[in-house]
Amino acid sequence: MNSSHKNGSGQIPFNRSSLLGRELEYIFQSVTIGQIAGDQTYSKKCQSLLEQTLQIHKALVTTSCTHALELSALLLDIQAGDEVIVPSFAFVSTANAFALRGARIVFADVRPDTFNLDETRLEAKITPKTRAIVPIHYAGVGCEMDSIVDIARRHGLKIIEDNAHGLFGKYRGRWLGTLGEFGTQSFHETKNITCGEGGALLINDPAYIERAEIIREKGTNRSMFFRGQVDKYSWMDVGSSYVMSDVLAAFLFAQLEVWPSIQTKRRQIWERYACELSDWSRSSGVRLPIVPQHCEQAYHMFYLLLPSLSARQSLIAHLAAHGILAVFHYLPLHLSKFGLRYGGRVGEHPVSENISDRLLRLPFFCALTGAEQTRVIEAVSEFRP
Ligand SMILES: *Cc1c(COP(=O)(O)O)cnc(C)c1O
Repeated sequence: MNSSHKNGSGQIPFNRSSLLGRELEYIFQSVTIGQIAGDQTYSKKCQSLLEQTLQIHKALVTTSCTHALELSALLLDIQAGDEVIVPSFAFVSTANAFALRGARIVFADVRPDTFNLDETRLEAKITPKTRAIVPIHYAGVGCEMDSIVDIARRHGLKIIEDNAHGLFGKYRGRWLGTLGEFGTQSFHETKNITCGEGGALLINDPAYIERAEIIREKGTNRSMFFRGQVDKYSWMDVGSSYVMSDVLAAFLFAQLEVWPSIQTKRRQIWERYACELSDWSRSSGVRLPIVPQHCEQAYHMFYLLLPSLSARQSLIAHLAAHGILAVFHYLPLHLSKFGLRYGGRVGEHPVSENISDRLLRLPFFCALTGAEQTRVIEAVSEFRP
């Protein structure tokens, strides 16, 4: 619950979850009909909705995006000695899912405009050991996928799109998450569409479907058994337990079926920030997000790029004094304790290092009220870096 603040108004969190559709009704139904394990009615509804909307061969709901990334690493038989290219400005799981298989993580810098993997620096990172590229569509704005796909094809590499931010965004008219071999989605509470903790693997090459189902079901062909394709199921391959509970799938389906209204709401909040902060940003040397013309963004985040680390820290403190929680984002992975094992050094990925110090994310969630957003905009506009 909101605690009251010295201004007489409540705290504005960075993220607040809320019911956006028929979540409770569907959860009640899944429990009442006794479908609480995975791969039942609501999981299938979520998967069909994703498959039909995105026009893909197969979507499998999973326990998380991290697990969907692990599943793709297993599907590609990534192993010790392989190299996988990951942006340095990234979430831990984007690299970790491949590190877990023994791969060497090769970091690449990001573009200064969108903070997406810099396709012009990609080819220099490729060696005979490179197996895969894992771009993130940061903030739900598409990477330069035409170039990335072209580079991958020429070098025989696979692409896993970490699309945790980008569900329902498009690059040159094509859905994000459908442009590489795999796309991975997150339904964590902080994402546009959520069930608390959850994810999905989007499979764009049908050759991987059968093995993906086996790996996701502890290495067994249980999915085929349930469809009546085999008369008993057994251990077929390596695998793990990546199946989402249908109770969570019920929650998820209630949000997925109203995705256009969720995205419209987020677009309105995003556009209001962009519009009402534009004069302030120009006069104070703060950069607002850049969205290229050919990208239909997924409205995952609204960030500010402050002129310096100290300005960023002062704005966080200024907003906190107004009861507003704004947060920074990724620390460059090549300089993290674990990332240093791959030989990272300061100055190696200058854009990642620079923006990591200067980026600030404003409160952004569907239930942000007009009055709350006014308070955020007013407090930001008072600030002079
Ligand atoms: C949130 C996030 C993840 C991890 O998602 P989980 O569902 O929590 O595992 C991975 N990559 C990116 C870019 C994310 O933002």
